[in-house]
Amino acid sequence: MSKSPCDILICNGQVLTMDPARTILSPGAVAVKGSRILDVGPDAELRQRYDAVETLDAEGAIVHPGFIDAHNHIVHTTSRGVFDNIFDIDALPVKFADLKAGVTDYDESVATAMAAVEMLHSGFTMFIEPGSLFATDAAAEAVERVGMRALFAAPYLWDRRETFDAMPALESDSLMARVPIDRDRAISQLDAELHRNQDPEALVRGYVAIYGVGTASPELLQAAHACARDNNVRLQLHASYAPGEGDIYRAINSVSQYVHLHELGVLDENTVVVHANLLDDDEEAAVEQSGCQLVWCPITFFSLGIVRTAVFKMAQRHRRGVRVSLGVDGAFDCTPAELMFAAHLAARAGDDPLHPSALLEMQTINGAAAAGLRSELGSLEPGKRADIVLRSPRAAGSYPANNPVHLLALTLGAGSVDTVLVNGEVVLRRGRSTRVDELEISHAVTASVAARARRLGINSGPVP
Ligand SMILES: [Zn+2]
Repeated sequence: MSKSPCDILICNGQVLTMDPARTILSPGAVAVKGSRILDVGPDAELRQRYDAVETLDAEGAIVHPGFIDAHNHIVHTTSRGVFDNIFDIDALPVKFADLKAGVTDYDESVATAMAAVEMLHSGFTMFIEPGSLFATDAAAEAVERVGMRALFAAPYLWDRRETFDAMPALESDSLMARVPIDRDRAISQLDAELHRNQDPEALVRGYVAIYGVGTASPELLQAAHACARDNNVRLQLHASYAPGEGDIYRAINSVSQYVHLHELGVLDENTVVVHANLLDDDEEAAVEQSGCQLVWCPITFFSLGIVRTAVFKMAQRHRRGVRVSLGVDGAFDCTPAELMFAAHLAARAGDDPLHPSALLEMQTINGAAAAGLRSELGSLEPGKRADIVLRSPRAAGSYPANNPVHLLALTLGAGSVDTVLVNGEVVLRRGRSTRVDELEISHAVTASVAARARRLGINSGPVP
């Protein structure tokens, strides 16, 4: 029998497919043709079936679908070390909002490139940026140069400010001057990034995001929901992030935030709400009845200092069928590689443990659903895009190899990746980018952060 041609055959792996049966093939193989997965199956069968241009030997290590970070303010990664605590507004001469507003197009480009390279090293192949980039074209160029995927939305769409009284670090004159709190601006920019979706091969696509956390009027909420629905993309917004936000919202609107969203017709299966840290019982019911998705940001949950006061509900929501994905929010004190471990600890601290397989679902297929790309991404199945990660067999945390689900969710951290394919192309090989000079990006981003800090009159740390 003659063999069929394929471009890349990944063989000799512990293949976690994340398909509906959660099939694990050991040893397994994945055949790739063009940008898509051609076949997934037992190693011996695929070796017999395919004649590959290139064979990648996983050496017995874990092979898995690229992780998806469902909520990552990508440029916030460069706030590392500049603020010890973004909420401590008395500690520094500027607010976190000033740092956000103080970026140049170049700052955003190098910050995005750096964070994207870092994500590849942690097994991520896509992130959803929630509308906090000003220079989306420069950042998209950086993402494409590195070879990742991303979803972008227009920056900071809002038309109310009252809830910022509960989150003063997130409001400043400089930020509001750059992105005014203005309904006409917000509504006119809802579809600003959707032009990217005309190219089905585009690595950076557009969707609709509004800032949320009570900063949107009913008119803006409904316009955003309609825009997302009409353009077949998801709507994402923050809600129930910080203590006090819900009280202010109720005082203005005489109804809890999620209940209001549901009444307005904004909360449905096309809507992805980020945080859901402090919901009342009526809001819990609204989430369940509406079919909306949630993005859980467990590291932010810890950072907010609400772990003793907020009732932990994410595991319960997941069990009840709410689709929950994971997002790093801002990678200030971590990398996205720690997301599943943080979620594991949050669930343990909340006395409602989650199985590692649930964490992997949140980081893969549920992330793809949050992006509205479930038919394309999130699992290793024939026909899907070839976004595939090969872990290193020599990485710390790789053994004993008897339970790859546990290892992948909890012990294989940042830097444990050997090779990454995105859209069928090898973009990281043997732990190195095939596309960009990583050290050049690292030096550029360090200098960019120092220059930004100097412009703002703050210390960025002991930069050489
Ligand atoms: Zn956020």
